[in-house]
Amino acid sequence: MFDRLNQLTSELQTCISSFEVDCVDAAGARELVEIAERVRRAGDSLRTVAVGQVERTNAWKGEGARSISEWLASETDCAQYEATSVVILANQLQHLPTTQAALLSGALSGTQAVEVARGAIVAPNTESQLLNLAKHVTVRDLRDATARVIAGATDEAARHKRIHNSRFLKSWRDPDGAFIIKGRMTVANGAIVMAALKPIQDEIFKAARKSGEYAKPEAYAADALLALCAGKTVSAQALSSAKPTCANTVMNIRIDIDALKRGHTEHGEICEIAGVGPIPVATAKEYLGEAFLKLLILDGVDIKTVAHMGRHIPAPLRTAVEERDRVCQVPTCDMSVGLEIDHIKPFSEGGPASLENLVRLCKRHHLQKTHDGYRLIKIKVEAGSEPAAGGLSEMAWAWRGPPGNG
Ligand SMILES: [Zn+2]
Repeated sequence: MFDRLNQLTSELQTCISSFEVDCVDAAGARELVEIAERVRRAGDSLRTVAVGQVERTNAWKGEGARSISEWLASETDCAQYEATSVVILANQLQHLPTTQAALLSGALSGTQAVEVARGAIVAPNTESQLLNLAKHVTVRDLRDATARVIAGATDEAARHKRIHNSRFLKSWRDPDGAFIIKGRMTVANGAIVMAALKPIQDEIFKAARKSGEYAKPEAYAADALLALCAGKTVSAQALSSAKPTCANTVMNIRIDIDALKRGHTEHGEICEIAGVGPIPVATAKEYLGEAFLKLLILDGVDIKTVAHMGRHIPAPLRTAVEERDRVCQVPTCDMSVGLEIDHIKPFSEGGPASLENLVRLCKRHHLQKTHDGYRLIKIKVEAGSEPAAGGLSEMAWAWRGPPGNG
């Protein structure tokens, strides 16, 4: 088996190093990326399960490393954080044979496997649903679903306290001479930080777009932090939203009415700050009186019934769409700034302003849909065999090109 694997790997390496990438056309280049991804998945998955076996057989010991991740980092010339996450995944996979099989078959990427394993290890009955979800949603949505699964399966108050006790904000300079910040805090406190940054980030993004500049969203987030700290902003219009007070920040908390009454969530129920993550019900209650809070009680006022036959989108409906679609809804587009609300069935064709007919898209996808014949259609995702865990959706969006264009 080793001989065969060694021989195939050598052949593959020879083939790759002699491949004339410069000579392939556009379609060929795309195909090449697809092939390379298969090769990468195969190699990464084998490395992960092999690391599990190194751990179980103590094969890393006696070579001067203090831990298996230190051994792995030096053995494979990878960063310590990468080695650590491989070791964690390898250990989790021991208990998750289905996920391991999906990873080894190439059906699951390493990043997806990390998310599925994180959830499935604390709530094994969610493994097949998370695997199914991984096939149809973006990594970001998968991560949200996993966070809900973990929140639902662990003692939330204890977890919240533990995270709070380990809070930090560190800064240092990297070898490039750049200033780096890293922090850790509870989701509830993180939401306050992000809610303060978001409106400023959006203003800076809009101003930059007008001037024809394009940078990554995280670049504008860094600008927003600076603006917040320096007490000044890019435009007069932004000034009002830039004050670092909670009064100007808005947080959407989604909570199941039963969880709110009971004081804690039970299996499958949601209590989370939209776009940030799950929080204990007690924390949500602490925020109840705060002016900056928009509480969206699920099963309470049925937001689905708020529909309006007009171009105007009523405020509660707008809030509901904004908190539901936190990123552009075109699959694999993770754009989170400058989003616009689109009528799926156009207003001019009688499409109502209802939760079902509204969707948030980034500027580029909105333009493509409005002017270039692109369509967003709902597709049915095969349901898992077990009852759905918290918030695991069975419908997904598909993005289709103009008719006659493939
Ligand atoms: Zn988009």
